[in-house]
Amino acid sequence: MAGSSSSSAGCVRSRALGSWSRCGGEEDFSSPIPYREKPLDYEAAVLCHCKRKAAKWISWSDDNPSRRYYKCFYSGGGCGFWSWIDDADSYATPYVKQLLKDLCGAVRGLRKKNKELAADLDEEGSKMEEHMAAVLGLKKVVADKDAEIAALTVQVQKLRKESSILRLVFVMLVAAAAVGIMLRM
Ligand SMILES: [Zn+2]
Repeated sequence: MAGSSSSSAGCVRSRALGSWSRCGGEEDFSSPIPYREKPLDYEAAVLCHCKRKAAKWISWSDDNPSRRYYKCFYSGGGCGFWSWIDDADSYATPYVKQLLKDLCGAVRGLRKKNKELAADLDEEGSKMEEHMAAVLGLKKVVADKDAEIAALTVQVQKLRKESSILRLVFVMLVAAAAVGIMLRM
């Protein structure tokens, strides 16, 4: 499949050829490019010792960049069947091999950088969510305070009204008392 680049089978591990080679450093053995053809989508079938169709992979090791090979499809090497397709000396010139190795390293470097940026973005996203939660909390506090202020304003208006009525009553009582005194005189 075109997206099977996550498979580690894109690099070669063989005791005969040495351990996993690194293209571009770090522990990244993935294919730098998506496969154009699924590993089992080729003809005519090459059978492994299990008598099943072997998978066709591409090596991205430092020593054999882009060199194709067949391998038992089963995990862990399966029956151990393994065979190069391309001839070591003629499939690419040393210059092309170096170029492929450099390109492989560049792709993996960008992939790593991309991963780091995505992680940074996730972290910033989490921080942003925390900030948003804090802002929402503060907005709620402000809304509660606004409601308290509105309630207090209503109470103040009510008290003011009561106070004017009391003042009026007081004035009327004083006036009545004054009239009473004047009538007695
Ligand atoms: Zn097999």
